[in-house]
Amino acid sequence: MRLPVRAAIVAAGGDRGATMAAGAARRVGVIGAGMVGVCAASWLQRDGHSVFLLDPGNPGEGASFGNAGCFNGSSVTPVAMPGVVRSVPRWLIDPLGPLALRWSYLPAILPYLVRLVRAATPQKVAAQAKALRPLIGPTVPLVRELARDAGAEGLIHQRGHLYVYRSAAALAKDGLAWALRRENGVVVDEFDADELHQLEPVLSRDYVRGLLVRENGHTENPLALVTRLVEQFRRQGGEIVRASALGFRLDGGRVTSIRSDAGDLPADAAIVCAGAQSKPLAAALGDRIPLETERGYHLMIRDPEVMPRIPTADADGKFVATPMEQGLRFAGTVELAGLAAPPDWRRAHILLEQGRRMLPGLAAEHPEDRLSVWMGHRPSLPDSLPALGRSRASPDVIYAFGHGHVGMTAAPMTGRIVADLVAGRPAPIDIAPFDPGRFA
Ligand SMILES: Cc1cc2nc3c(=O)[nH]c(=O)nc-3n(C[C@H](O)[C@H](O)[C@H](O)COP(=O)(O)OP(=O)(O)OC[C@H]3O[C@@H](n4cnc5c(N)ncnc54)[C@H](O)[C@@H]3O)c2cc1C
Repeated sequence: MRLPVRAAIVAAGGDRGATMAAGAARRVGVIGAGMVGVCAASWLQRDGHSVFLLDPGNPGEGASFGNAGCFNGSSVTPVAMPGVVRSVPRWLIDPLGPLALRWSYLPAILPYLVRLVRAATPQKVAAQAKALRPLIGPTVPLVRELARDAGAEGLIHQRGHLYVYRSAAALAKDGLAWALRRENGVVVDEFDADELHQLEPVLSRDYVRGLLVRENGHTENPLALVTRLVEQFRRQGGEIVRASALGFRLDGGRVTSIRSDAGDLPADAAIVCAGAQSKPLAAALGDRIPLETERGYHLMIRDPEVMPRIPTADADGKFVATPMEQGLRFAGTVELAGLAAPPDWRRAHILLEQGRRMLPGLAAEHPEDRLSVWMGHRPSLPDSLPALGRSRASPDVIYAFGHGHVGMTAAPMTGRIVADLVAGRPAPIDIAPFDPGRFA
């Protein structure tokens, strides 16, 4: 028997429901238990709602599993910067380059690429950066708050994020990106070659410039973080439902249940946080959102010979080296090949080659049992902004997906905004730029 929402929360031991105005609590289904879904579920639960998280797999095993773990509030620059088209041929030809395209996938992704290039004008890029900053800027204090309640604060560190360059000319080429960051309030410390060597002695002496953003943080284990947040969610009375959402049942424009492969799940609000798999769920409500996936890889070395202390991005190679609980993780690069194609593990091994150049203290060879590889699907939209807002068909279905390269970073604030929308409170930041209807 289903208890009335309020009684169910109290029966499950949820204490935050006590502060909720009677009658305001709802039965909310959060579709997708990645970092975004788990943060949304956590904030919704704090409002006293009865919340269930729906996922066919284990929480945190989508893109949130193997990313670089960085909470970079400074990452306001979109993927497509002005002039990106000029760099693409060089990247595609270079086997070690940061971008790969499966040519058979080109016809399918072409409309997305056209939108991406159109979004890369100086004016649009400035507007995208301005929109993103309030969504990602407060990430470290917000994720700390969630992690503290879950007893997981030890998984979060704030040592900054270091961007390193092999020449002054390479840094100059990134001038617009750094200008955008500074214009949006990011404070940057710049180091020359000697200072950089003192800061991170394990880095190659080939790097001659380093830029440190101290406000950024990272988690030493993204999966453990999601898992601990889920455990806290369950302790507070949240439910996990092992099922795949298929669509929604509406009555007069109001949600009555989420359709799933385990049957209809009664709900009076639904949050779509299914990452790169969210497109068909939005389409089920008539919203055509040009969600694509930018696939990325990681390679990890257990017991590495050297490890940077600060997460470090090779600005040209577009990969990050992050010190993790289980070893050193090199993560990054973009492969355009859709959701269905099998991984191309050469892309992960390229990261190892690049990583050895970044950290010459690493051995030239590692036994296979000390290496592990992973591929994940970034949920990406062509303007590098998420879809965050209500569906057209029902005010009860809220989209929160498409965070691309910054989903870990944006998740804590996204979750808060979702809770505000469900409660009918104004969002703490301007969410108009994330309107899911902007592509119509
Ligand atoms: C190599 C790489 C490095 C990255 N580094 C960083 C970084 O350092 N910092 C950062 O901020 N971001 C980073 N990202 C991006 C970040 O990982 C993603 O943006 C983020 O994890 C997306 O989270 P999510 O919750 O939206 O999606 P996911 O974590 O993919 O979760 C979606 C969940 O939805 C579930 N699901 C799918 N379909 C359904 C359905 N029909 N019904 C129910 N459930 C469903 C899936 O099983 C999955 O568990 C990186 C990504 C990659 C690939």
